[in-house]
Amino acid sequence: MRGDASRAGFAIEIRERYGDVARDRWPVAIDPLPGELLSSWLHRLALANGIAPRSFAGVLGLGGRMWSPRLDLRLPHTVATLLCHQTGLPPDDISAMTMSGGAMAPLLLPLRDSAHRNRSTWMQYCPECLAADDAPYFRRPWRLASRVSCFAHGCGLRDRCPACHAGVAAFDQGELVPQHFCAWCRFDLRAVPKASVKAAARRLERAIVDICRVEAARAPAKTNDAVSRVLSMPVAAEVRSGRTLTNLSTAARIRCFEALAAKPPDWLLNNMDAAGAYRRWMIVAAGGHEALISRFADFLDAHQGSRRRKRPPPAADRTALFAAYFRIMQPGSGHRGR
Ligand SMILES: [Zn+2]
Ligand SMILES: [Zn+2]
Repeated sequence: MRGDASRAGFAIEIRERYGDVARDRWPVAIDPLPGELLSSWLHRLALANGIAPRSFAGVLGLGGRMWSPRLDLRLPHTVATLLCHQTGLPPDDISAMTMSGGAMAPLLLPLRDSAHRNRSTWMQYCPECLAADDAPYFRRPWRLASRVSCFAHGCGLRDRCPACHAGVAAFDQGELVPQHFCAWCRFDLRAVPKASVKAAARRLERAIVDICRVEAARAPAKTNDAVSRVLSMPVAAEVRSGRTLTNLSTAARIRCFEALAAKPPDWLLNNMDAAGAYRRWMIVAAGGHEALISRFADFLDAHQGSRRRKRPPPAADRTALFAAYFRIMQPGSGHRGR
């Protein structure tokens, strides 16, 4: 079905007329949805104005493969100006949808529009999120290799159409079809069965997101360290199909997270200063920064005589546990892990 000329013809005819009728502002402007990725908004904007996403590239003066995912990574000033002018959206709202730059950039899934087995595709999605959306859209965190599940629904992300095994290719959609339908076989991605991810792997995933966020706010150099350790997760997990996380399919990365969730977090902590390792370990042990803060609040609650709720004392003395852990993490202890 790829490159089918009959699919493209319809949209091209619209595009030529479109320039005449919509010289000043495009007839329909749509607001970005929470966390929406620029390309997702562009596909919705195109359809709302009666033009297929593949042809909308021409309206923006663009061409070539994966035109909209490339804009997510680098939005040329001329295109940004055109979008602001034609939609009336403030420039900051448009640039906030891009994924350009930042400490997390190495974790972006590569722009690959083929979908070889076990290899990553450029985009993931949660079928439950798409099903719950009034206007189904793709979220920015789904572009990251460090994300394998949906925090809202607890299910695994998907990166392929289950019917034809192709990746998401809404940018190549030549007809007026919303982006939650596979661009090749029209399978409704909202109907994809739920993928399961073990709870321990989901806690590890959340902890990694939080470690990167906390360290980016404190010390960007530490984020680089965390990011490079996350990229090497397949090596630490001994997943044989790849060495770099960004190259693995979502299913292979889920296996990777599950394998590492069952091991001590040495791969994330070894060879670093004790204070930094301690902070990371606390976040991993709690299953995320927010979980850590809420446990700390509970701890204060219990130890400051709050009468609101009585909790049983912790099963283990955490202070002693941390002290023991850091004793074996010290250089020269002979127990430093790999
Ligand atoms: Zn979801
Ligand atoms: Zn398909």
